[in-house]
Amino acid sequence: MTATGWLAYPLTQRPDERMGTVPVWICATCGNHYPEGPSAPTACAICADERQWVPATGQRWTTPEELHAAGHHGDVREVEPGLVGIGVDPPFAIGQRALLVRTPQGNLLWDPPGFLDEEAIQAVRDAGGLRAVSASHPHFYGAITDWARALDADILLPEADAAWLTRPPDRPPLIWSGSLPVLPGVTLVQCGGHFPGSAVVHWAEGAGGAGALLSGDTIFVTPGEDRVSFVRSAPNRLPLPERAVRGVVDAVRPYRFDRIYGGWWEPVLRRDARRVVERSAARYIQWLRGEAAADA
Ligand SMILES: [Zn+2]
Ligand SMILES: [Zn+2]
Repeated sequence: MTATGWLAYPLTQRPDERMGTVPVWICATCGNHYPEGPSAPTACAICADERQWVPATGQRWTTPEELHAAGHHGDVREVEPGLVGIGVDPPFAIGQRALLVRTPQGNLLWDPPGFLDEEAIQAVRDAGGLRAVSASHPHFYGAITDWARALDADILLPEADAAWLTRPPDRPPLIWSGSLPVLPGVTLVQCGGHFPGSAVVHWAEGAGGAGALLSGDTIFVTPGEDRVSFVRSAPNRLPLPERAVRGVVDAVRPYRFDRIYGGWWEPVLRRDARRVVERSAARYIQWLRGEAAADA
């Protein structure tokens, strides 16, 4: 281990644990963390659910040390002024990159991947530290417990999904529902759909002051960056019913936004996002009802 290397044990070791004997177990498919222990859990509850998947060859586990040895490292980039992306290079598991929303009153980290290293932690320290860490939904809870521990941050979880957190944090998460102002101009908004507690961040200062949503899988930005979609499961190609789609759109309608960042570096719905959300939802519902004309 070098001075700039992987610092898992200062983050994860408890006084009664001997280094190297009880790793944090990480699901290699979804990146979620499980409690330290001498052997891996028998199953990943998140991947066993119909919204995720288990490899045909069986459940696979990894550890922070193994990921570090394989060359994964923090990938930190400014996304726009006030917004820092923190991913993993090469990408790991579902491949999401976190977003750090910066405000003069503190910072919120959103959708952390399953791997973090000292480079990523230092980047957040340099940006002013961390008030809170949260995620759009359980697929992206990732290293949330490690982040809270490393930077003494609160974990914010929606009541509807809090039971999906697979690695207990040091202190209980703060539970919320509906909407939650986290910092000035930074609000968590429960939308439902993909998971009952699926949420977005509304960031009022985003997109140069026009407002932005950080949506994870809650509102799916499509590859052409000109539409959005709504899914129960992306990998398993499961749609949502009309009432859930309407629920997502109704939840974000009160907010002013022009841009949507999904769960990955790209795609980004860069402009006119409010209109695109309404139009995409209307089209989706036409297809659900069998009322769509194929050439529209
Ligand atoms: Zn998993
Ligand atoms: Zn998901």
